[in-house]
Amino acid sequence: MTSRSILNKQLTESSELRSFQHVEAMQKEMLQLLKQSQVDPISYVGLEYCGPNHCGRVNCSEACWFGTLRRRVPEVVAIRRLMEQQEGALHKIAVWKPVWGCPFGWLHYIKPAISRAETTRIFNSMCSMSIVAAGMLKIIPAGWGDKRYFCEIHAIVGGEDRERLEATFSSFDPNDITVGISEITDLDAAVDEVTSCISMQPRDEQAPGQTELTEFYAWLANMKRGARLFRYGCDENFDLITYRKITWKPRPKKDRSGWRRRRYYKFRKRIPARPWNANHGYYDQE
Ligand SMILES: [Zn+2]
Repeated sequence: MTSRSILNKQLTESSELRSFQHVEAMQKEMLQLLKQSQVDPISYVGLEYCGPNHCGRVNCSEACWFGTLRRRVPEVVAIRRLMEQQEGALHKIAVWKPVWGCPFGWLHYIKPAISRAETTRIFNSMCSMSIVAAGMLKIIPAGWGDKRYFCEIHAIVGGEDRERLEATFSSFDPNDITVGISEITDLDAAVDEVTSCISMQPRDEQAPGQTELTEFYAWLANMKRGARLFRYGCDENFDLITYRKITWKPRPKKDRSGWRRRRYYKFRKRIPARPWNANHGYYDQE
């Protein structure tokens, strides 16, 4: 099959998706894990009929590795083209916030849109017309026996100098949001690293266990495709948006003193945002 061999050739640049045989094996392994588990079969129905040329269901989910494979190659090419157009040095950022993560077993509560939106807001606060970013939300198990997932956004940023980026991120509380900025020397390797979305890479380099893998796959199976992709300043084809209207609304701290505090705790939503915290109870705060 011609399309297969072309894609196979392009895939040699990617470190995770090596060949169709590899992807096929991964898909089988994932489905086997999901079938053994308690996960609702509706969430992964049809995935076994996915193939290199078509998917087993309309709008396949994020967990389909064949779909990922088909999207990944044009994405990598487009991101590289976009970043090569940028003037000045490119930087890789890794943004991380403790509240984005969760303990093991609660991954289904994590919504990729939250961390993406918060990162977008940080970029909006720079009010820059030239800045572009492209990246991916990553789930990283803490490792070293710490049963927690970290959510990090890894992205390539272009069109802005390092001082400005550092100044923007340093205006936040370092206990609240952490960022790592490094200059990119090898663009191909950086694009490959940033767009990798298949596995979880724990900090201690140990492969994640079966339970965690099943949880991760179940989370992906319930997700729309492309939900983890982070883009800023470019459209869905990774073309630069030259005319932008940036609206940045800093969030003022709400006045919750005296009677306002009592009213807030009385009428706030009862659904806990982070149910894994022990003290989420309704009366605990008073
Ligand atoms: Zn599929």
